[in-house]
Amino acid sequence: MSDVIADGKVVAFHYTLTDDDGTVIDTSSGKDPMLYLHGSNNIVPGLEKRLVGQSAGDSLQVDVPPSEGYGERQGPGAQAVPRSQMPEGVELQVGMPLQASGSDGQTVVLWVTELTDDTVFVDLNHPLAGKTLHFDVQIVAVRGSTAVEKQHGHPHGMDGSASH
Ligand code: ZN
Repeated sequence: MSDVIADGKVVAFHYTLTDDDGTVIDTSSGKDPMLYLHGSNNIVPGLEKRLVGQSAGDSLQVDVPPSEGYGERQGPGAQAVPRSQMPEGVELQVGMPLQASGSDGQTVVLWVTELTDDTVFVDLNHPLAGKTLHFDVQIVAVRGSTAVEKQHGHPHGMDGSASH
């Protein structure tokens, strides 16, 4: 009997993620499958929930609303920051996350939304916030996790032996 997806299982799957218009946002096609440890918040909750009970060879389509994906958009939107205030040596790209210190000293993640010669626009919202996510998923493999993987809360490669 093959393993079915449940808490503590390591899952490898291929996926294509599209938006409401059918535009491909991301895909594992042509790459290694995505690996995650079920029950450890490695992937968006709406997708994780729907994979329970699936096993290797299964294909399914999953629609994830923003509330179970990257959240609803909030806040004032993108803010302009002078490039001179950015840390040196960072190759800025649209869509990349930046870590910053909030007013209370907490680490906040800001996403780069736009770049000009002297200004960087950043937003608190994940680029996929507010979007319904449409996943086309093929389950490649399901296995039990090792003690170390459970402890770390993520997989260590296809067979659990990878180090980092
Ligand atoms: Zn680890």
